[in-house]
Amino acid sequence: MGGMRRRPAQRSFADIVREVESTPRQPLEAPAAGTLVDGVLTDPDGREYRRVEDTLTANRALALAAAGAVVVWDSCGCGGYCGFEWFSAQDVKAMAASGAPVIRNTKRARGNVSEWRSRSGDVLLLAEDDVRWAGRMG
Ligand SMILES: [Zn+2]
Repeated sequence: MGGMRRRPAQRSFADIVREVESTPRQPLEAPAAGTLVDGVLTDPDGREYRRVEDTLTANRALALAAAGAVVVWDSCGCGGYCGFEWFSAQDVKAMAASGAPVIRNTKRARGNVSEWRSRSGDVLLLAEDDVRWAGRMG
């Protein structure tokens, strides 16, 4: 019989818990413009939005864009870690004029559009991953 093999030391669950608990929390400060932090999406003008609807139909997204919503795209769907693409009001007008977005949500494509609102009632549409709209996305 072979000798007992020693496994390399592994971190126990307790070690991991200790590590997480000792990790300092993010300091409370205004999030940078154009970022998504702790569920708050801040647009380049500094307005803060919270999600009110996880998934919109393409027609609902169109109606909100036509009514002047801010539109932002997270093209890879990672939550904005590698940056959001913000569209100008003029872009949004062109998108609304072209009709509803094409939101592909299949086994391989994970397109989604969610609705966000600021305290003063501004509407923002966050498109993620596989969404095509007037050549601005997709
Ligand atoms: Zn990304």
